[in-house]
Amino acid sequence: MEIIGIFGGTFNPIHNGHLSLADTVLNTLHCTQIRFVPAALPPHKAAPAVTAQHRATMVKLAIQQYPRYVLDTCELDRQGPSYTIETLHWMRQRFPDRALCLIMGQDSYQKLPTWHRWTELLDYAHLLVIHRADTEKTLLLHAEHAGKRVETAQAAQAFSEQPYGLVSYLTITPPNISSTAVRETLAQRDAHLAAPEIPPAVLHYIRQHHLYSR
Ligand code: ATP
Repeated sequence: MEIIGIFGGTFNPIHNGHLSLADTVLNTLHCTQIRFVPAALPPHKAAPAVTAQHRATMVKLAIQQYPRYVLDTCELDRQGPSYTIETLHWMRQRFPDRALCLIMGQDSYQKLPTWHRWTELLDYAHLLVIHRADTEKTLLLHAEHAGKRVETAQAAQAFSEQPYGLVSYLTITPPNISSTAVRETLAQRDAHLAAPEIPPAVLHYIRQHHLYSR
């Protein structure tokens, strides 16, 4: 069965850590595509000052040269908080014959029990967690996921054999970049300076629309 990766985030803005993470997942799971899903109203963060439309456009610019990456704006079309469980429900209807894999950094996985209907996520998708710099290089598996973990080396095979229900962990660490740090850097840096943490097309868009400047 083909595997579709689903990578949700605030992407405020998208940065090279996100792209590196997606590349690692693609190479590990051999996904046919990775769908980048910007949150319109992230339930666990203050409402972003930059609109969902701007954040989605930056994702589009960042991924345009990668044939297997797709911008999915399904959360922009819904009202209310952008709950991942609703996104997965929608994806399951849309792709009934594929394995779905929700992708997240380790910091997100640790906070998973605060997510709306989090114990149901595995009823729709597999979960792939990626190590994030400055966190322990072990996965603290939630008790609710006991018995569902597969070793990294077996993940591609196991995830393709059933459509949902498994958890795996990648210890490869993407570059230590966060959107928070990028926003702070952009606010301080002179407009003409480069920002190596984000793709050039995204930096150009940010400058053009005067985003993240103080
Ligand atoms: P912020 O600093 O504003 O909280 P962020 O950099 O964590 O943002 P998000 O868009 O919230 O970016 O992240 C989406 C997903 O990508 C999350 O699951 C997060 O854990 C993961 N992620 C983002 N950057 C990295 C990174 N450098 N390494 C590993 N995972 C990452």
